[in-house]
Amino acid sequence: MRYELYRWKWSVLDWLFPPTCGGCDIPGERWCPDCQKKTARIQAPICESCGQSTYGDVLCARCIDAPSKMTSIRSWAVFEDPVREALHRVKYRRDVALAEALTRPIIEYARGLEWPLDMVAPIPLSSERQKERGYNQAALLAKPIALGLGLKYCHNALTRGRDTRSQVGLSLDQRRQNVDGAFHASPTLVAGKAVLVVDDVATSGSTLDACAEALWQAGADNVYGMTLARAVLSPNES
Ligand SMILES: [Zn+2]
Ligand SMILES: [Zn+2]
Repeated sequence: MRYELYRWKWSVLDWLFPPTCGGCDIPGERWCPDCQKKTARIQAPICESCGQSTYGDVLCARCIDAPSKMTSIRSWAVFEDPVREALHRVKYRRDVALAEALTRPIIEYARGLEWPLDMVAPIPLSSERQKERGYNQAALLAKPIALGLGLKYCHNALTRGRDTRSQVGLSLDQRRQNVDGAFHASPTLVAGKAVLVVDDVATSGSTLDACAEALWQAGADNVYGMTLARAVLSPNES
């Protein structure tokens, strides 16, 4: 019921202030059917552990070597247009209504996975970034996902213990080192719980892994990751 109310609130606002599509800018809807159709999904078969496409195996080559620290990670779409364009709008224009529209197919997808979950937590921004932007784009996605799945939303289950540099342009090893030990999870909030961690984009999965580590340490029962988009790694990165 709370989710229906939440969606209804945004529908009323659409009626008052007609939106344009976050992917292609045509007027009428926040996320149009054409952009939905153009959205590239992660190609099956998908690695059970990290959620990247694999070649018919249960685990991808990288996870056979070192599996993700999450129980499982999944992403709704490949990080390319029109999803990339839409995420840019969520991230830099604080488009909460667009975030709500984009989470509808993610909620459908997550329901189908039948993960046994108790709560949803966004990956926190560094305090510096949060101050400069004023909001966390992962939280704009995590909240409607929690409502849609009927789960508790916990914005402060994870916190950043230290600031990290941007992951852009770093190699896989550098990404891992950059975020290693960067997160802290609250035992009071997560002990004995199955937690779904939400982020906007994952590339190597190192940030999700670092969050998983913090959650396991805090006594979480199970740790899953869901991102709106996934940057597909080139073969020499995987
Ligand atoms: Zn569109
Ligand atoms: Zn994998």
